[in-house]
Amino acid sequence: VKRVRVAAFGGPETVELVDAPEPSTPGPGEVLLAVEACGLNFSDLLQRAGLYPGGPRPPFFAGQEAAGVVIAVGAGVGTPAVGTRVVALAAGGLFAERAVVAASACFTLPDGLSFVDGAALPVSLFTAGCALATLGRARAGETAVIHAAGGALGTMAVQLARRLGLTVVATASTAEKRTRAAELGADVACSYDEFEGEARRLTDGCGPELVFDSVGGELFRRSLAVLRPFGRLLLVGCSSGEPPRPDGLKLIHRSQAVIGFHLGALLDDPARARQAAAELMPWVVDGAVRPQVGHTLPLAEAPAAHELLMSRRSYGKIVLLPGG
Ligand code: NDP
Repeated sequence: VKRVRVAAFGGPETVELVDAPEPSTPGPGEVLLAVEACGLNFSDLLQRAGLYPGGPRPPFFAGQEAAGVVIAVGAGVGTPAVGTRVVALAAGGLFAERAVVAASACFTLPDGLSFVDGAALPVSLFTAGCALATLGRARAGETAVIHAAGGALGTMAVQLARRLGLTVVATASTAEKRTRAAELGADVACSYDEFEGEARRLTDGCGPELVFDSVGGELFRRSLAVLRPFGRLLLVGCSSGEPPRPDGLKLIHRSQAVIGFHLGALLDDPARARQAAAELMPWVVDGAVRPQVGHTLPLAEAPAAHELLMSRRSYGKIVLLPGG
């Protein structure tokens, strides 16, 4: 089977399509997936560069998100059954024509959603949903700043925030991404220089109750400064490359919470993951949220896909197609 392998830590040139042996038959609790579409994530860039904490060491097979059809199941697997269309998550190995994956990390792909849409769904849906709704306890009427709103995660977060009844201030680096954030339902879409002013303007000067931050660095510091007392900052990533170091004393004085979320922790807890799927998938089924796929490329162009995501010129999700 064709699989994407990272040969060494480094740039996109270390990403290669190789002919690998067929995956082994699925063991207990596993399923074999015919992969139809794969989602590229920022963490794929970090893993390839050797910057992902606890990440795999080269050479390794890449790919953490995919959609496809279950074609065989291992012992003890009741669901998903053979023939089920699923989206799947894994620590790696999903950028492939076929892959073995844990049954507990497969979720039924809602009817009406294509495999391409499916490949863009689980990472963003679970991350944005668990951060905003479960951990952030967002309540209708609150105001949220959503950073990097033109990204895969950001486009999902904007839609979920709207679904939760929040007023949304979205940030993005280009006018085109901001236009699309507004089309997805952001009340205000602005540049990274303007969000404090816009958030204060919409909240009678009090500041937002919530910030959804996948960028970190300077933006994190400014976000905490504008967050109102009793506000919650949901920290889900660090695209800036600068890990945030919140000042504990300031958090006490301002009665603020910084809450982290990592998808790996959700997958380590299958009961919690099932509950998240049960709560969040209906919002996809009823059309309240829709994965935003900005780009589709053949799997063989995985290095170019890495370049595109690094460039900050991508919109929404980049999806790779094993079928070309
Ligand atoms: P995106 O599609 O959001 O791409 C990253 C975006 O971040 C860019 O498009 C860019 O948008 C913005 N950005 C802001 N500052 C920088 C910078 N200095 N360098 C590069 N990009 C920057 O990627 P993903 O949706 O895959 O991931 C977004 C972030 O969320 C990542 O940090 C990722 O690691 C994290 N994440 C965390 C998860 C978790 O489990 N906690 C799960 C999924 C993602 P713009 O040009 O508008 O600034």
